[in-house]
Amino acid sequence: MILLSLLLSCPLLLSSCEELLQMGEAAAVLDAAMADAPAAGDATEEEMVMPKNVILIIGDGMGVPQVYASVVAARGDNSAFLRFPYSGFSRTYSRNKYRTDSSAGGTALTTGHKVDNYHVNWGPDSARYRTIFDDAKSAGMSTGFVVTSSVVDATPASTYGHVPYRKMFDTLSLQMAQCGHDVMMGGGRKYFRPENRKDGLRPLDTLAKRGYTVVNTLDSMTRFSGEKLVALLYDGDPLTAPARGDVLRREAMKAIALLGRNPEGFALMIEGSQIDWACHNNDSAYMRAELADFELMLHAVLDFAQRDGQTLVVVTADHETGGVTLPDGDIEKGQNDVRYLWGSHTGCMVPVFAVGPGAHYFSGIMENTDIPMRIRWLMGF
Ligand SMILES: [Zn+2]
Repeated sequence: MILLSLLLSCPLLLSSCEELLQMGEAAAVLDAAMADAPAAGDATEEEMVMPKNVILIIGDGMGVPQVYASVVAARGDNSAFLRFPYSGFSRTYSRNKYRTDSSAGGTALTTGHKVDNYHVNWGPDSARYRTIFDDAKSAGMSTGFVVTSSVVDATPASTYGHVPYRKMFDTLSLQMAQCGHDVMMGGGRKYFRPENRKDGLRPLDTLAKRGYTVVNTLDSMTRFSGEKLVALLYDGDPLTAPARGDVLRREAMKAIALLGRNPEGFALMIEGSQIDWACHNNDSAYMRAELADFELMLHAVLDFAQRDGQTLVVVTADHETGGVTLPDGDIEKGQNDVRYLWGSHTGCMVPVFAVGPGAHYFSGIMENTDIPMRIRWLMGF
């Protein structure tokens, strides 16, 4: 493994690393993104190894109040959010709006570009932006995503799609079938059936031709031991928590087990998709259940990362939803009095948490676009 300190102290090595990026102006953007990153501080050389794997975890709509509600609800020091040694804030505004939507928010986090709301990895003049998952593939790594929404929803789409409008589900399902991720899990089976499509095409056939096994149950997902897996456990959107059961954690751990077999490493996106939906509905019981489900997944991922020692885990949100505030509560009982401003997103900064090699680069206030740029730099993309 390459010591980060070696890279930092040797300009020659750093410049050859930049050349390897072969991304033209991206290297300059990368430098800019790193320039205001916090210094390594007192981290020892042993701590400053480069990560082999990266797991980007997105709590959709998960602002600071949502996280604090979860910390209080978990009581004592049981919240997974308390296990991160580094934290910061991300500015979420999009290219054209103070308040981002999930597609521009997802695009910022996967590509390092601010785009207009409703665009997925799609910029001015129809520019198709490259994602950190494309970079991981080029580096020989395995890639995938696990979500509690439909697989063609905005956030998962930002790991593979390129469309000027997020609801182009026919196009997105085709792009998903051709994107090359090794593992894809979520809901939305109906989008793959010809009778539900304007183009009458069969993206499930494309997936089969490309060597994927498509499973529809948790049991067959658990039993799968092949190479390329698509799990579409729900015809439409996945159930809500707690009715959904322990699906997010089980899918995330299965994805890690499958992707983790690649000696070159892996890049995985996991989304707690419905924290956003609960907050859109101003439904505090639903929000609490989704956050508890997110915590369960987070603990399992952190246990893996701790054992593994070579995995960078970054947790953040694409935006805050609901204008949540917590005017009162009971710490002892783990209760929050949750109030909502409205049923839409807000422009507030959202928290960033990180653990693993390079985690200290994710503290302070950063642009949402800095997150994938720092991941690129740390992963040597
Ligand atoms: Zn969102």
